[in-house]
Amino acid sequence: MQNTVTPTHCPYCALQCGMNLTPTADGTVEVSERADFPVNRGALCGKGRTAPAVLSSRVRLTSPLVRSEGTLVPATWDEALDRIAGRLLRTRAEHGPDAVGVFGGGGLTNEKAYTLGKFARVVLGTSQIDYNGRFCMSSAAAAGIKAFGLDRGLPFPLEDIPRTGCVILVGSNLAETMPPSLRFFTELKENGGTLIVVDPRRTRTAEQADLHLAPRPGTDLALALGLLHLVVAEGRVDEEYVAGRTAGWEDARAAAMAHWPEYVERITGVSVPQLRQAVRMFCEPEHAMVLTARGPEQQSKGTDTVGAWINLCLATGRAGRPLSGYGCLTGQGNGQGGREHGQKADQLPGYRKLDDPAARRHVAEVWGVDPDSLPGPGRSAYELLDALGTDIRSLLLMGSNPVVSAPRAAHIEERLESLDFLAVCDVVLSETAALADVVLPVTQWAEETGTTTNLEGRVLLRRQAITPPVGVRSDLEVMRELADRLGVEKGFPTDPEEVFEELRRASAGGPADYSGITYRRLAEENGVFWPCPQDLSGQLPARAAEEAHPGTPRLFLDRFATPDGRARFVPVSHRPIDEEPDDEYPVLLTTGRVVAQYQSGAQTRRVDELNAAAPGPFVELHPRLAARLGAAEGDPVAVVSRRGRAVAPARITTAIRPDTVFMPFHWPGEGRANTLTNPALDPTSRMPEFKACAVRLEPVTSR
Ligand code: SF4
Repeated sequence: MQNTVTPTHCPYCALQCGMNLTPTADGTVEVSERADFPVNRGALCGKGRTAPAVLSSRVRLTSPLVRSEGTLVPATWDEALDRIAGRLLRTRAEHGPDAVGVFGGGGLTNEKAYTLGKFARVVLGTSQIDYNGRFCMSSAAAAGIKAFGLDRGLPFPLEDIPRTGCVILVGSNLAETMPPSLRFFTELKENGGTLIVVDPRRTRTAEQADLHLAPRPGTDLALALGLLHLVVAEGRVDEEYVAGRTAGWEDARAAAMAHWPEYVERITGVSVPQLRQAVRMFCEPEHAMVLTARGPEQQSKGTDTVGAWINLCLATGRAGRPLSGYGCLTGQGNGQGGREHGQKADQLPGYRKLDDPAARRHVAEVWGVDPDSLPGPGRSAYELLDALGTDIRSLLLMGSNPVVSAPRAAHIEERLESLDFLAVCDVVLSETAALADVVLPVTQWAEETGTTTNLEGRVLLRRQAITPPVGVRSDLEVMRELADRLGVEKGFPTDPEEVFEELRRASAGGPADYSGITYRRLAEENGVFWPCPQDLSGQLPARAAEEAHPGTPRLFLDRFATPDGRARFVPVSHRPIDEEPDDEYPVLLTTGRVVAQYQSGAQTRRVDELNAAAPGPFVELHPRLAARLGAAEGDPVAVVSRRGRAVAPARITTAIRPDTVFMPFHWPGEGRANTLTNPALDPTSRMPEFKACAVRLEPVTSR
């Protein structure tokens, strides 16, 4: 592979920026611009640009580790795999198959996510599998399925954004999370469109807005209802569209009319004139969009909150029309594909439901097993982690670091420590891997081939650019080796294309149909949007039939994916967050990201340049709150919730509401934001309430 340029994609966020990689003499790769990929047109953020540093990091794992007398020590692959297989077998024999848990990640390729789901259900026979994407966009997925019958993050390509008239961006700080995407919004404004940003903080994204609405954390649902109320009151409902393409309007209308603008102003802190201005900006252009991200989604009422924003789109005739609609900006690199192929507690490949008998029959046939042998739905991510050490005695974890990223993280750390056995696959010794009994060192993005599906539903080919270091193996090889040891010697290929071919068959006919997508097409066409079924008419030669469908960049233009083709309004009403401030905990905490770190930081905290830019956590607070506390810029501040205490330096700014503090969640230890967060779950999506909980602030006198 020396000196060849490999076009591929970034290992981090859901934008999946295109980049070129060239091997270097020291065994790593150099990143260069890849202008042919339409999403980023060559632009990269600092995370993508520096991603090769993790390949050659001095803390990279290159040997399996096993725990011996309390310490992790190097071992051979056979020793490590034998130990895992033996312990999983013992757990299963002593406590039953559901005592073995599997936890995956939204960064795993489609091939790995697919194989992990199959491994759990076919090899281990456990229902207890879920993944960290549950903590990401699951509320938007649930709301999208309720309203449209189908969840695909964006039902249109990003390139539609500059050509719409107005975008309401709810709870997304994409200037920090996915900076190259900002250009779509800059072009929107250059074309005469407007941008409304909804965020409790005046973020770098909010600074770009024509109108910034800063609601109290956890009140986005009321805000959307207030806007819908005004849409009705001002006669802006698209009656023809509502009558022709939707169902359930009267109940949703009645719910919205109970939310008077003055009432919404009291709940949210957003003034009535601002609400009216937002409605004018959104309704007057011919086309408009609402895009949500983690702000409204990571709430214990996240599904209803997203549903309220979808209702706004439906009432104004915005969904399922060109250059208009509702979309979710998925966060993790394969957050979209990761939820489509079976590592989720309630799903089978192709975005099929695990409790659907026809889906079970179809997938079981592809897997060569009896449908009745497949377990039913298991626990959601937080519930699974909360059951560790009690109902679940052994855990196999791949592509996740819940010690930093799970809510109520100190409790989850205790649960992990209480396991009989923990095995972790990772590239470095993450905080979670450090607790394991066995750690397996695995290959990274540039060392392996596989597909991901970006936030637009565009399936992409990540290509191998370099040979992995001696001592590491791919996750697919790990699952194959373990399947062998656990008595299932067939059905776990290690070649990614072979896995993808099986995934195509398993997804055929499902909502996320990949059957018309091949590696060859992905390489030649720079990605293909699902659904992309094979042509089954019998009128085309086999190869042509296989690849005839052009893919579906834009969904719902003729009909929604519901039985009658109509979108569903879902009547929703405001309700408070799970944990409102009180005398003991009088301030709201919200959490989020910074531009130089990614998720739990397991990779990006190993990159010197990124650490220099974002060396540690902080507590962002308003000057009034700082004055009450007696804290100056940089002073350590303790943030205390009902779940624990975190300490980080003060960052004082008027960019945040005086009733709210913000902490980024990328770091472990004393400044771990998720020590504080509330695991109260959304009843539908099972999303924890990361975005709002009650805290108090305390000065730190001595450290
Ligand atoms: Fe990678 Fe996302 Fe940055 Fe693009 S925006 S370079 S995909 S981290």
